[in-house]
Amino acid sequence: MTDIAAAVGTPFYVYSAATLTRHFRLFDEALDGMPHLVCFAMKSNSNLAVLKLLGDLGAGIDVVSGGEYRKARAAGVPGERIVFSGVGKTREEMRLALEGGIRQFNVESEPELDALNEVALSLGLRAPIALRVNPDVDAKTHAKIATGKSENKFGIPIATCREAYARAAKMDGIDVVGIDVHIGSQLTQLEPFEQAFTKVADLTEALREDGHDIRRLDLGGGLGIPYERSNEMPPLPVEYGDVIRRTVGHLGCEIEIEPGRLISGNAGILVSSLIYLKHGEGRDFLILDAAMNDLVRPSMYDAHHDIVPVIEPAAGAEQSTYDIVGPVCETGDTFAKGRAMPLLAEGDLVAFRSAGAYGAVMASEYNSRPLVPEVMVSGDQFAVIRPRPTFDEMINRDTIPVWL
Ligand SMILES: *Cc1c(COP(=O)(O)O)cnc(C)c1O
Repeated sequence: MTDIAAAVGTPFYVYSAATLTRHFRLFDEALDGMPHLVCFAMKSNSNLAVLKLLGDLGAGIDVVSGGEYRKARAAGVPGERIVFSGVGKTREEMRLALEGGIRQFNVESEPELDALNEVALSLGLRAPIALRVNPDVDAKTHAKIATGKSENKFGIPIATCREAYARAAKMDGIDVVGIDVHIGSQLTQLEPFEQAFTKVADLTEALREDGHDIRRLDLGGGLGIPYERSNEMPPLPVEYGDVIRRTVGHLGCEIEIEPGRLISGNAGILVSSLIYLKHGEGRDFLILDAAMNDLVRPSMYDAHHDIVPVIEPAAGAEQSTYDIVGPVCETGDTFAKGRAMPLLAEGDLVAFRSAGAYGAVMASEYNSRPLVPEVMVSGDQFAVIRPRPTFDEMINRDTIPVWL
């Protein structure tokens, strides 16, 4: 890590190719015996190299925008392995995916269904769809990432979706292939999944009685990861796979899942260095060169990330407690409060663990800080998979009007 820091400069993200591979295979194996496709939710980590690695392993991709669709295709993932989610797909995005090839649209509302039908008809195509149903279950996760309660903006209420399916079946531009559900992110219990999938199984039978050929079930993503080593472990992919087998396995459907965080989260860290140790009144601050613009999860979701020195201190080394902050001019630019850390010197490297998901993808250039670079390691080699922009690049992106 010290070598990479010397070559790239801090802060930077680094992802392990081996861990990404292992996590994808855990899901793939968890669904063994059922026809299935594991679609990586690329909103968690959309670097082209990450997509290429997973695509080459046979992964599908869950995209939520036209930009993500283009990126997945640019990484070599064929359209028939791409599912398109999201509540606000524009007609332009629909056209892009229909023309380029798409496995299925996960449709989230009736107006979206009408629009997709129109666009498909105008192209002389039929759009394969699943309706995203909102099962009204409590995912028991952070409110900002719960999506399966009736008050959330996502999906069509499960109680009224039979009517929506009946309408969809009459549309010449629409081919109903299945049902989609996604109840939230960072779930640490299996019970909400079990509840939701059971409702999907009942719905499958009801819709088949209505004459629909339900042949595919997209069960979403959301399985959580341990952000604190000391905490209880969330369920394993194999246990999650067992819930799927038990709840919907008898239906003979092809199963799709859309894990993001569990594949990319613990495959990445954010490496930063200490700028200053500042003694404040009653508290000491570690001021790092990473900030909320590089990793927004702590300020946005009150998320915990373990932060550890890159060079492990000797056993029994002295510790102190610190507030760990970045240089951005916001009080919210705080990564941790009262965190016990070994004594550090200026320039020492620290690593934020579990930073591979919803890290670099949410980074910004707030405070005109260059977008944080990304690195991939594989065995003893590493490569910069997104360089840090130069200040000239950043400045030249803006243009001054001629009349100014
Ligand atoms: C965010 C999202 C996912 C991935 O969630 P994770 O918690 O990262 O597994 C999957 N599907 C949809 C529709 C999403 O919005």
